[in-house]
Amino acid sequence: MAQCRERHGRRRSDRLLMPLRALRWPCFFLQRLIPFTGDRLFFTVWNMKQKQTECKRCGICCQKGGPALHGPDLALVRGGRLPMENLITIRRGELAYNPLSDAIEPVGQELVKIRGTGQEWSCCYYEPASKGCSIYGGRPLACGVLKCWQPEETLALVGQDLLSRLDILGAQDPLRPLVLEHERLCPCPDLGEVKKNLAAQDGCALRSLEGLVNTDLAFRDRVVREFNLLLAHELFLFGRPLFQLLQASGVPVSESRQGLKLTMRRNGNLTEGHR
Ligand code: SF4
Ligand code: SF4
Repeated sequence: MAQCRERHGRRRSDRLLMPLRALRWPCFFLQRLIPFTGDRLFFTVWNMKQKQTECKRCGICCQKGGPALHGPDLALVRGGRLPMENLITIRRGELAYNPLSDAIEPVGQELVKIRGTGQEWSCCYYEPASKGCSIYGGRPLACGVLKCWQPEETLALVGQDLLSRLDILGAQDPLRPLVLEHERLCPCPDLGEVKKNLAAQDGCALRSLEGLVNTDLAFRDRVVREFNLLLAHELFLFGRPLFQLLQASGVPVSESRQGLKLTMRRNGNLTEGHR
């Protein structure tokens, strides 16, 4: 398990005690859309840009995050233009920014996005030097329709015809049963509810979350060794580890001899998940 945890940060203290930037919500819910970063200031700026009529190639939209994939993008995946190691799964229940409601919300339907770079969401195909896209001729649907000055077409894509991991893996893929087993053993809880009820979480609720966190890590550890998976494959197949998502939702995570431990501070008192 320790080996698996090390895969998600350079040092144990980096991952468990410091808020990793990659732990923050994905900037885009179902696809990228430059003015809709969750920062209301961007709306103001966007409204001031109404006179814009064409792309200025500033690259800001690509820096804000890669797109979610839709049905027509399956051909790009199957054709090898978008390999599995460049994709990341946002599981149902995770928090993400929804441009339609302008709010951070639990994702109601799994989505697969192009991964970021390092610990940033900036699209891995974005080339900062030229402010260009290294797969421009074969970029995903959401990138092709994006006009930051005229977002209607992009907004119409929200929630429509999204690709999931199982769409991408196909019926005969030997990794498919692993995805199903992981979802059965450790589904992502509704992190909106977890966040909302943080102060009210009692030891019992924390123990239940703690069980999920440790099951998730043990599962990853097992399949990573058994199938010799890269971290990038793991992030596509199983999304981000639950302990990272909980940390980002404000649940302190530490290590103990029994595994990862969740702790809550309520009215100055510590509530722990461990018995
Ligand atoms: S669509 Fe063009 S102008 Fe708008 S943010 Fe993206 S690169 Fe910049
Ligand atoms: S695929 Fe290309 S156009 Fe789309 S976000 Fe990434 S760099 Fe930008």
